[in-house]
Amino acid sequence: MKKTKNFLHSKKFNQITKDSFENWIFDLDNTLYDINLGLFHKVSERITLYIMDELCLKKEYADRLRRKMFKKYGLTLRGLMLEKNIDPDSYLDFVHNVAHPELEVDSQLKNFLKKLHGKKFVYTNASKKHATNILDGIGITDQFDDILDIRGTNYVPKPDPRSYETMIRKFKIVGEELKRTVFFEDTAKNLKPAKKMGLSTVWIENNFNRQDYEFNKKFIDFRCNNIKDFFASISLDM
Ligand SMILES: [Mg+2]
Repeated sequence: MKKTKNFLHSKKFNQITKDSFENWIFDLDNTLYDINLGLFHKVSERITLYIMDELCLKKEYADRLRRKMFKKYGLTLRGLMLEKNIDPDSYLDFVHNVAHPELEVDSQLKNFLKKLHGKKFVYTNASKKHATNILDGIGITDQFDDILDIRGTNYVPKPDPRSYETMIRKFKIVGEELKRTVFFEDTAKNLKPAKKMGLSTVWIENNFNRQDYEFNKKFIDFRCNNIKDFFASISLDM
């Protein structure tokens, strides 16, 4: 039987070109923008506020519950739905109802994305409204063919394998095309199911997920400091 070698394992960075993949899939938060902007922290604070209000908890207990749900389910919302019966739409509207003036148009990232051949997608555990807010802020909304959000996966988050099944159906990625698809994520454990399906994987490094990386590194083909470093290292002009 022919051994299927993962594309990125058999290539060097500079052998990757704009034609190397038919599908380029990107996580949103802390992948398409720098984690140091602190956007995630603002959303976390609003999650705590939501829990305090909905479940009548003091901040200390709400914070503890938020962390517990995130650890157990990979997404706080999922845990609150299953264990506390909260309404996902009111939750999403509330936690993402925050401005992000830190974001600036990123012309360099846009130019990199423009050069890629094939389709480009955003696959996020957040809401589509949040995704378009961010993408509009960076000025790259028009670069993507489609966005799959947490409503689109029926509130089943990455890294649950069922979420990835929905993703490949939604993006119409079939058969051999899986091997010509690459997925970029800052949450290392979210790369494992993608790799198991045959996708190539790129981890966008951050210290918050470094321990996750150590547990999941055999599922990761490439790692880089940020998404623009990746594009700067490959051969986009060939
Ligand atoms: Mg992320």
